[in-house]
Amino acid sequence: MTTQYNVPDFFACKVFDEQTMRSRLSPEVYQSLKRTIRRGARLDLSLANAVASAMCAWAVENGATHFTHWFQPLTGITAEKHDSFINPAPGGRVIMEFSGKELVRGEPDASSFPSGGLRATFEARGYTAWDPTSFAFIKDKTLCIPTAFCSYGGEALDKKTPLLRSMEALNKQALRILRLFGNEDVTRVTTNVGPEQEYFLVDREMYLQRKDLIYTGRTLFGAKPPKGQELEDHYFGSIKPRVQAYMDDLNEELWKLGILAKTEHNEVAPAQHELAPIYSSTNVATDHNQLTMEIMKKVARKHGLVCLLHEKPFAGVNGSGKHNNWSMATDTGANLLSPGGTPYENAQFLLFLTAVIKAVDEYQSLLRLSVATAGNDHRLGANEAPPAVISIFLGDELSAVLEAIETDSPYEGAAQKKMKLGVDALPRITQDTTDRNRTSPFAFTGNKFEFRMVGSGDSIACANIMLNSAVAEALKQFADDLEGAADFDARLHELIKENIAAHKRILFNGNGYDDSWIKEAVEERGLLNLPTTPDAMSHLLDEKNVEMLLSHGVFKESELRSRYEIQLENYTRTVKIEALTMLDMAKREILPAVESYGASLARAMADKTGIDPALVSVYEKKASADLSHLLDAIDGAADGLAQAVEKLEGAGDITAQAFLIKDEIIPAMEALRKPCDEAETVVAQKYWPFPTYGELLFGV
Ligand code: ADP
Ligand code: MG
Repeated sequence: MTTQYNVPDFFACKVFDEQTMRSRLSPEVYQSLKRTIRRGARLDLSLANAVASAMCAWAVENGATHFTHWFQPLTGITAEKHDSFINPAPGGRVIMEFSGKELVRGEPDASSFPSGGLRATFEARGYTAWDPTSFAFIKDKTLCIPTAFCSYGGEALDKKTPLLRSMEALNKQALRILRLFGNEDVTRVTTNVGPEQEYFLVDREMYLQRKDLIYTGRTLFGAKPPKGQELEDHYFGSIKPRVQAYMDDLNEELWKLGILAKTEHNEVAPAQHELAPIYSSTNVATDHNQLTMEIMKKVARKHGLVCLLHEKPFAGVNGSGKHNNWSMATDTGANLLSPGGTPYENAQFLLFLTAVIKAVDEYQSLLRLSVATAGNDHRLGANEAPPAVISIFLGDELSAVLEAIETDSPYEGAAQKKMKLGVDALPRITQDTTDRNRTSPFAFTGNKFEFRMVGSGDSIACANIMLNSAVAEALKQFADDLEGAADFDARLHELIKENIAAHKRILFNGNGYDDSWIKEAVEERGLLNLPTTPDAMSHLLDEKNVEMLLSHGVFKESELRSRYEIQLENYTRTVKIEALTMLDMAKREILPAVESYGASLARAMADKTGIDPALVSVYEKKASADLSHLLDAIDGAADGLAQAVEKLEGAGDITAQAFLIKDEIIPAMEALRKPCDEAETVVAQKYWPFPTYGELLFGV
């Protein structure tokens, strides 16, 4: 790092952003590009050519030699195929060129990406199309152009396409509501997201000694260390120098890419940390979060570290999530989830708030399944992260306001009077009292909702697609109703009242980790408890869900079917790899280690017996017998797991396979882990074949 370290000087230096565009494009080209972006229209070719040529010149000046259409296929990571800018020139020379056609459209071979059956019915080829709402950037020596990825039949093969569609759906319905409140100057409503990203850092040398971390990103074995997170001395604690150096480097890389990395701190578990950016539009936030995860891993390597983004790298230690802070804002700068100062603003706020409540209640299953992965199944409901039951935390004050409206009773907090929407102002909601229920999956935090169920390794796209769509649907129903009302104020009041009454079962301010809550939620309130991915996924194709997503143009039915397949395929493959890794480690590392130590004890006992049997200690006899039992237990459990895995072959379709994983393979994995972890506590340290939890968690 240089002595003149001035962040504004290099912030976004690798991004072809507005400022760069303005300085590199002619005023006419710049203006028409901006118009196209704003209207979400297609670029015409002459405009595209002008933009491409300016982009190329800028990229080459900044060290790029290649370009790629950067997209987010359903594998969960980003994809890129590099082409160089090189074009032949007379005299055997080359020039660096990039055409509008290359900028606007690419044709990667779609057959190597998951399509969940869409490939069979449509052409193997797919195409990528530039999303000009997310800026191009340089990564390594490549100009990356954020794109959407579709099949030739127009089916989305990625996460960006439905995300953009869901933002559009919400925009359309929110504008209808705003017009009803006499708001004519707003032309666009965008959803904004600030995703807080949790992660673990472990030493790379140790990581390389563990096949489970290498193949699956999480530990599949490991006894509890003497010290875990019980002292809670890590959270917000001072950051160790090696970690600080990593964070500094990471921030610098992210800032160059125009990513607003803002906060960094230690998390609850040892070796766990968090990074939060400043929020941006959902589309950009999603792209940036994907990039952030990639850069986090890359920078870690430089520091001899490995960044683990798995939701549950260590059993018995808190896992990692991603808090998806979400709000809706107008292009005139108003946050629609911010309580207002005037009676009308208040009524509008309460209507949007009620829409979110209705959306979350009616589409619980979609929100739950949007975060369903094999990794996240270990985290949700494990008393460290939100339960698998969705509920909303509003805080006492706002809850009291809603209750007063619903029951037409005086609101205690204010001047002891009944609230008439559109006439009375809301009592001021003090920010402090709205947050800090960490156990809630979906919490109102003053002017935004925080959806806390997203897994740390997952894209935030899926969660936001479902959230945007569900809220768009609620707003649509409200707009349909209110547009036909004879007396707007009266109907508004009634509508909010009715919806509070209909959906208040989803509101819960108590402790979400409490077992009694799950019981109450399911038995008394009829809320859904979907603990695993196969449980949750079965709801994607529920008639009500399909109808809603289709009606807002967010998905086509074929796309939903394909996504159902792909998500369960990902689940099944992930767990199968874990099971095979466990078998490999158990048979080739753990059993031999237990056997060696047992054999050395046996040899020592035989030697002693030769001299004098009385020399053999009780410890030797006992440990030797324990180790023999453990050998058999491990061997038996490994056989059990192997048999369960074999059943996958003939299990039938993907749904049947996923349930076999859940009902038989995962329990067999747990059964194998138990004796192995027990062996770790008995076998001498120098015999143990890989670094322990203690070493991994406290080794940096
Ligand atoms: P914490 O939740 O840790 O108290 P903050 O509430 O300050 O921290 O912010 C957490 C995240 O929420 C940050 O990424 C921040 O940019 C984002 N955020 C803040 N305001 C909004 C908003 N109106 N819409 C979406 N995200 C927001
Ligand atoms: Mg937060």
